[in-house]
Amino acid sequence: MKQTLDIVPLKSWFDTGDAPLIIAGPCSAETEEQVLATAHLLANTGRVNVLRAGIWKPRTRPGEFEGIGSIGLQWLRRAKEETGLPITTEVATAKHVEEALAAGVDILWIGARSTANPFTVQEIADALKGVDVPVLVKNPVNPDLSLWLGALERINRAGVKKLAAIHRGFSSYEKTAFRNEPMWDIAIQLKTMVPDLPVINDPSHICGNRELIPYIAQKAFDMDMQGLIVESHIDPSVAWTDAKQQVTPQALSDLLANLALRHAKSDDPVFEDKLAQLRKDIDKLDDQIIKILSDRMKIVEKIGEYKRDNNVTILQVSRWDEIIQKRSNVAQALKLDKEFTVKLLELIHNESIRKQNEIMNTKPVAEA
Ligand code: PEP
Ligand code: MN
Repeated sequence: MKQTLDIVPLKSWFDTGDAPLIIAGPCSAETEEQVLATAHLLANTGRVNVLRAGIWKPRTRPGEFEGIGSIGLQWLRRAKEETGLPITTEVATAKHVEEALAAGVDILWIGARSTANPFTVQEIADALKGVDVPVLVKNPVNPDLSLWLGALERINRAGVKKLAAIHRGFSSYEKTAFRNEPMWDIAIQLKTMVPDLPVINDPSHICGNRELIPYIAQKAFDMDMQGLIVESHIDPSVAWTDAKQQVTPQALSDLLANLALRHAKSDDPVFEDKLAQLRKDIDKLDDQIIKILSDRMKIVEKIGEYKRDNNVTILQVSRWDEIIQKRSNVAQALKLDKEFTVKLLELIHNESIRKQNEIMNTKPVAEA
């Protein structure tokens, strides 16, 4: 997938030194008092760089609180004046963009539901032509890397170079411990494709509950993400939206204090040497893994030919069960994670089936 983003580094539009960028604030602006009180407590923690609050809320079902609307922009502006914190809010239409900019909103974000709709993103992009404001693009609700990248490209083509992505997890039909599955690999793929693009993690919307936030936030730092956007409310229990996942400013401060920051680079030559050696060892093993997989596929091909010539079905469930059972026992004895082993075997098995299918559907050389 070719990417075409022309962006400037995060440091050039928001310099936090070596520290990650921390955006925090309520899911929704509810009342002027709630916005101001929360903003002051967040500013007092000394750990928050930007104040967030939703003014227009895209809700899954009608009848829920759909945001306080334009009046809330004035509360945000006041919070900015009183605390000195720059402010950010979600925009989903050209009108939102105009109103937010007129109210002095410093950073705009595009929500997950909007990112999923290219018409909406294009409308926002058109409204941003000639405007020099940073834009954060949340991943779409569905796990689709192209859609995420496409939204970033649309905004970028409107001339916005101060861009970042927000990883807020992906909706899935299966109910898991998370409200939105993190699917880290998609965010990592984006980082790999556009190494200069800052990626900010949104543990609140991934978790859907307070308890898991520290775990996801730490993981985000460990994955070298550049910041966090966390929902924080002066009294989460009475929040009008996303009550279960919001934390008090004090809880946020404690949470941030307990996260370990790991540096991507080190100036220590001994450390660099050791790392380089370990990476070499990994490369060697990876080469071996590839070679072994290739040898395995060659045997699979032979089996495919044999099955074809003897009219045997490709999939034999009992054989597959045996592979999973025996291999995962060995893997467990070798301290490999069971879920990882099963996933890996499934991947290999699917490829083997594909290969055998190919062979079953080509005639033997003699008959061709
Ligand atoms: C939000 O940040 O409050 C929000 C609506 O998030 P998302 O677009 O990720 O669902
Ligand atoms: Mn929310």
